[in-house]
Amino acid sequence: SSSQPDFDYLFKLLLIGDSAVGKSSLLLSFTSDTFEDLSPTIGVDFKVKMVTVGGKKLKLAIWDTAGQERFRTLTSSYYRGAQGVIMVYDVTRRETFTNLSDVWAKELDLYLTNQDCIKMLVGNKVDKESERVVTKKEGIDFAREYGCLFLECSAKTRVNVEQCFEELVLKILDTP
Ligand code: GDP
Repeated sequence: SSSQPDFDYLFKLLLIGDSAVGKSSLLLSFTSDTFEDLSPTIGVDFKVKMVTVGGKKLKLAIWDTAGQERFRTLTSSYYRGAQGVIMVYDVTRRETFTNLSDVWAKELDLYLTNQDCIKMLVGNKVDKESERVVTKKEGIDFAREYGCLFLECSAKTRVNVEQCFEELVLKILDTP
């Protein structure tokens, strides 16, 4: 037996964003390859997933708010030590997008102690294209202004779900 860990890096990643944008669904879609219609009361604390990205074996500990965002009780300990943050909004609900600048970016500035933390903006639920109210261009513009990566995805159809996590992790690996 050996005490060597079976991974090259351990990264802490966070999901933030308004209630019901699909944070838990994205996490489950990525870690268990399934989509379940979640009851809003059911949140996930965190999940661990091993991935190989850029030839490196990574252990990802991905934290979900577990519904705490509804009570505005996320604390500094949630953010502490995170290498990457995924900021999620719902492309069918405008307020979840405006709250990114009004609420979530401010909270990040307040609590994120790691200045090198990489941010990824994710517009979820693109499978509901007929109900879309936030354009892709708006997402691109916000991401550019705020200095983060950007993707649109669907936890339901799994379009771009793996890419969200992979692009974030690649950028973290690329950052000295
Ligand atoms: P959270 O509160 O941000 O963790 O959001 P949940 O993951 O609990 O999702 C809220 C609701 O949106 C649930 O009913 C999900 O089934 C649904 N949902 C999540 N992602 C998607 C998606 O990509 N497409 C569709 N159509 N529904 C989704």
